Amino acid sequence: MDLTTTVLIVGAGGGGAVLGIALARKGIANLVLEQAPGPPQGLRGEILQPNGQALLHNLGLLKTLPAEASKPVRLFNFLRCGGERLCTIDYGMLPAPFNQALVMWPNVVHHTILDCLQMENPNGLKYQGTFQSFLLEDNKIVGVQAEIEGKPVQIRAKVVVGADGPFSQVREAMGISASIHRYKESYLVAALDTTSELNEGQYFVGRQTILSLFPAAGKKVYALYMVSSDSLVRLKAQGVAPLREEWKGIAPEFGELFDEFVDWKQTAYMGTGRVRAKTWVVDHAVLIGDAAHGMNPHASQGRMQAMVDAVSLADVLEDCERSQDWSADSLKPFERARRSQVTMLQQLADEEVFFWNTGNPILGMLRDRVFRTMDGNRRLQYQVLSATAGLRSTAPFGWIDRFQAAGFLPDPQADQIPIHTQPN
Ligand SMILES: Cc1cc2nc3c(=O)[nH]c(=O)nc-3n(C[C@H](O)[C@H](O)[C@H](O)COP(=O)(O)OP(=O)(O)OC[C@H]3O[C@@H](n4cnc5c(N)ncnc54)[C@H](O)[C@@H]3O)c2cc1C
Repeated sequence: MDLTTTVLIVGAGGGGAVLGIALARKGIANLVLEQAPGPPQGLRGEILQPNGQALLHNLGLLKTLPAEASKPVRLFNFLRCGGERLCTIDYGMLPAPFNQALVMWPNVVHHTILDCLQMENPNGLKYQGTFQSFLLEDNKIVGVQAEIEGKPVQIRAKVVVGADGPFSQVREAMGISASIHRYKESYLVAALDTTSELNEGQYFVGRQTILSLFPAAGKKVYALYMVSSDSLVRLKAQGVAPLREEWKGIAPEFGELFDEFVDWKQTAYMGTGRVRAKTWVVDHAVLIGDAAHGMNPHASQGRMQAMVDAVSLADVLEDCERSQDWSADSLKPFERARRSQVTMLQQLADEEVFFWNTGNPILGMLRDRVFRTMDGNRRLQYQVLSATAGLRSTAPFGWIDRFQAAGFLPDPQADQIPIHTQPN
């Protein structure tokens, strides 16, 4: 079987599925290959940041998210293990209407996007469709060799998009070198039921310890607990009881909630990594999302950035279609538009890994000082929050800000945040 399309997208994850929708709406023929047999089902934490909400709103999808699966959260408290509050971050200071985080039930956002893709382009998504290699003619990429439902297929395309995640095979086939960093610390995610409604996020930090609690709809709470990759087996061998007691020590106020944790089946493990691809484009092929720039979850922006890539690339591909030029030069405006924000977010997330995950008491003390300063300094709080919310591309802190945040310099503008025009 041979197929022909204009844009062949490998991977129906956060980036690929949105790209399929955006291209279909521009009338550009596309096909999405997804190696999985169907939509994802596993447990995972999912926070829709303001930029992700705005993007889904623009695609007409925000209002179609099931209300019963979505919980708006405005306040996130940072506390020391044991319960002493350090800082409260208030999303309310961001421009309305997206001045809150939306904590979603697992996979709901993605299923909504996939449903939309299948509506916009009924035959455009092939599950059990696996990229294997590029089709080449005179050394030029003219499509892919794939397998769909176990059968070999040649798909001809003007351009191939690698939206196939951090271990991208498309990136490898493009011959692009990438540095892939695996962080020592990853996360155990647990979905717990609560009897009393929790409305604020809680983020406990201590010596090499992070436990965060995100309230979700339907009286559910997601707990994310930092574990080193090599400690998971030992942790599981001990059974759930010692971990439950550990959590009670970190967050004593939530003892009742942790009593709900009785089985490892309530948990999932989430590995963490960072990808830095040297370039994202070659003639007739381009990378988006984690394949180009996977980042640590501290950024809370992985899915958002993959979606923003998709919408941005769709505009560039429209220009390519118009000019019938699919060269690296024509694709490059996409990379130029996107690199600064993802690089900034990767750096911000790495700084957070350095200070938040630390076991070093001096770094821990500095971290706590910064949180305490931010609690009373709306300007610095806004700078960091607007980065996490996906609303800026430049670094939130310069050197003077850093000294002010650590409490070594006064900040005469501590109360000043940008004034936003409220939309009608
Ligand atoms: C457990 C977990 C929790 C997370 N929570 C959050 C969060 O709360 N907020 C957030 O913003 N980000 C979160 N992230 C990160 C976020 O999921 C990713 O950054 C985002 O999904 C990247 O989108 P993507 O499209 O680039 O890649 P992915 O979503 O990874 O999609 C890649 C797709 O390509 C497919 N694929 C791979 N190889 C092939 C092949 N050869 N042929 C065909 N298909 C292929 C895969 O099956 C997959 O569906 C989380 C990640 C994990 C693992």
